[in-house]
Amino acid sequence: MTASEAGVCRLGEFHPFQAGPRRFLYLVPAGAIFQLDDAAALIIDLLSGGDRPLYQLASDLVERGMPRGEAREVIGELLSAGVLINGQQPSVAAETPPAVFPLQTLVLNLTNQCNLSCQYCYEFGADKVATPEGKPKFMDFETGKASVDFLLKESAGRRTVHVTFFGGETLMNFPLLKQVVAYASEQAKAQDRRIDFSLTTNATLLTPAIIEFLSENRIGVTVSMDGPKEMHDRLRVFANGRGSYDIIEPKVRALVQNHRTRPITARVTLTSGVTEVVKIFRHLKQDLGFHEVGFAPVTTSPNQLYAINNHGMDRVLEQFHFLAEEYLAYALRGEMHGFTNVSDTLAELHQGVNKSHPCGAGLGLMGIGPSGDIAPCHRFVDSDTHALGHISKGIDRDKQADFLRRGHIGSKYDCHTCWARPLCAGGCHHEAFVRYGDTGHPNLHYCDWIRDWTGTCLRIYGAISASNPDFLERFAERRAS
Ligand code: SF4
Ligand code: SF4
Repeated sequence: MTASEAGVCRLGEFHPFQAGPRRFLYLVPAGAIFQLDDAAALIIDLLSGGDRPLYQLASDLVERGMPRGEAREVIGELLSAGVLINGQQPSVAAETPPAVFPLQTLVLNLTNQCNLSCQYCYEFGADKVATPEGKPKFMDFETGKASVDFLLKESAGRRTVHVTFFGGETLMNFPLLKQVVAYASEQAKAQDRRIDFSLTTNATLLTPAIIEFLSENRIGVTVSMDGPKEMHDRLRVFANGRGSYDIIEPKVRALVQNHRTRPITARVTLTSGVTEVVKIFRHLKQDLGFHEVGFAPVTTSPNQLYAINNHGMDRVLEQFHFLAEEYLAYALRGEMHGFTNVSDTLAELHQGVNKSHPCGAGLGLMGIGPSGDIAPCHRFVDSDTHALGHISKGIDRDKQADFLRRGHIGSKYDCHTCWARPLCAGGCHHEAFVRYGDTGHPNLHYCDWIRDWTGTCLRIYGAISASNPDFLERFAERRAS
């Protein structure tokens, strides 16, 4: 018996799941998916009854008819994959990104003004974090140019970078958007690099000329829209209380029909009373023709009238499951379904992400407000408390380090035993601030929901990878393009 065979063997940290008859493990410290064959499944079952020395595990397998050489080989493979542990558990925290991380995406809030008064808006509602008093309402070209220069400088080493235009209502500053697209394209070309663009809009100000410009310049568009008229108009209203559905519906149809260079997506905010996910999905996908439709529950403190209660969230999750099953059936036929919430999670599972932070905010992604303030992301722009510098002076590295230290999974002790942490990493910094007053606090109010949804997506991923792996390859290529 060798010294290592004398060591005690135990199960690594994983979340087991099943897709049809097949058994899988989600290996938490690696964020990887592992399909069990019969031998591996037998070992897992044996060790589920308790730890045992390696030599004994090998003997148990031999007793069950496995040749000794094969038993050693399988155990060795499972040890190197981290399914089994013989010694120290790997660290709970994903690797920390380098202190100076190259920027990939810059979100430009072209204005903090909006022509709608959606009651749940995080920019204007009761939960707002922005302090725009005394600052410009519209970004000017000098700030836009400086932002592009900042992005190209801070993204050194990346060939492709992204600019996302945001608001307020983005199109209220369309003249600047056009100027920035021209300037950024010229600068990127001079550096032999690629810059691509996207925007989020409420669609009220779309015109044929704007649609033509967006299509010609391959600008991706996300429309904030909450479903059919009776749902959309509950909260997405003008200042006089009138719903915006009738204004945007023909504009959205024209956008979907005439913007042919990039897929058009819809983003739905779910609120109390707007939780009919399947109905909303059908309307936006089938009636209006959006390419993808994504849903997010409203970000708010729980005492707001439009906050979704636990019962409402259960109802949402039930319908998410329904659409997820539909997604799976489509994928097995090699077809795209269009439910963004599944697509996004599948993409992360396929890449094997293991997040140190919940998202790119403050790392590969930053937001710039109309005043030129640098923020961790678009949701924090114009907030003095959260500013990470100013475009004229660059990033305040101390503030950035503090933001990233608090948001790191290693600082979120409640998450250390959670199997969903490679994907969740504690959840949105902005939501954490709104709920708990600290961007680094884990979003513990939705853990059950996150784990349930992650489990569903794992099962779908497992089923697709076993029955139609080509779909995942094509899906990954399409997402990367
Ligand atoms: S916030 Fe909850 S679900 Fe997310 S990683 Fe932490 S414990 Fe897990
Ligand atoms: S902090 Fe929240 S809103 Fe900002 S980029 Fe991250 S997930 Fe999105």
